Amino acid sequence: MDPGSPLRSARDDGAEVAKVEEKAKAGTGSLTVVGLGPGEAHWLTPAAQAVLDAASDLVGYGPYLDRIAAREGQTKHASDNRVEIDRAGHALRLAAEGKTVAVVSGGDPGVFAMAAAVFEALEAGDPAWRSLPITVEPGITAMLASAAKAGAPLGGDFCAISLSDNLKPWEVVTARLEAVLAADFVICLYNPISKARPWQLREALELAARHRSAQTPVIFARAVGRADEGLRILTLAEAVAAAASADMATLVTIGASSTRLIARGEERPWVYTPRSVTKSPSATSQGRT
Ligand code: SAH
Repeated sequence: MDPGSPLRSARDDGAEVAKVEEKAKAGTGSLTVVGLGPGEAHWLTPAAQAVLDAASDLVGYGPYLDRIAAREGQTKHASDNRVEIDRAGHALRLAAEGKTVAVVSGGDPGVFAMAAAVFEALEAGDPAWRSLPITVEPGITAMLASAAKAGAPLGGDFCAISLSDNLKPWEVVTARLEAVLAADFVICLYNPISKARPWQLREALELAARHRSAQTPVIFARAVGRADEGLRILTLAEAVAAAASADMATLVTIGASSTRLIARGEERPWVYTPRSVTKSPSATSQGRT
């Protein structure tokens, strides 16, 4: 890894390592769930970097751990994406043994990610774990990174829904979508599609098209903050047709009725949602129109 990158792991002066070893001997372990941000090194907060530097053990999904260059004395515990609760239990056990554990998530660890898994494992696990010092260190979540690139689509009220039906029935997803579509929220869709879930995004967008104009702006933001980043501004009608072109690294934002574009010639238009709302959702028109 580029030694100049903020994702480098640690001052190698040995002082941190000694501190970690001392803590481990004293049985004073700790666990921090830390957000790595969407991908770009300069979007990792200094506080998150400090947690990575100080950790004796790094726990997480393999590709996230790959983004961190472990320093000498640090142990990486990589696991599959689907075993979040096991991974969280493993991290709590390590902390109980006296390790300084960092559990890593992409984006923010509290948004559809490891922080909830850690608390779920804590709730169900060894009561002694409850006295462990646990910290959640925030990161920039995908919807904020995507919104910043597009302009200001989240200027009005918005919500986030995961389209993954691994952890909840699809009927719950559609009921929630119906509710927020009726209430005229801007809607951010996480986990829009995967090989195992190929049709959900199209169905969600078709549902949106029954409530909102075909011209409603929709943002497909892919791998924001990474080398292969791609941002597409579509109409809702185009988005329905393009649903299959999204992938697991895409965050989809569906505009509210007041979300609009500012054309910039050849440049990609800005997308924004005005902050002021003058009409009720039942009038299906928001903002200054
Ligand atoms: N904790 C993460 C979200 C985990 S759910 C966060 O706060 O961002 C995984 C989903 O997040 C992906 O399917 C995708 O919808 C979204 N996502 C994560 N990183 C992204 C990125 N760099 N660009 C666009 N979407 C991203």
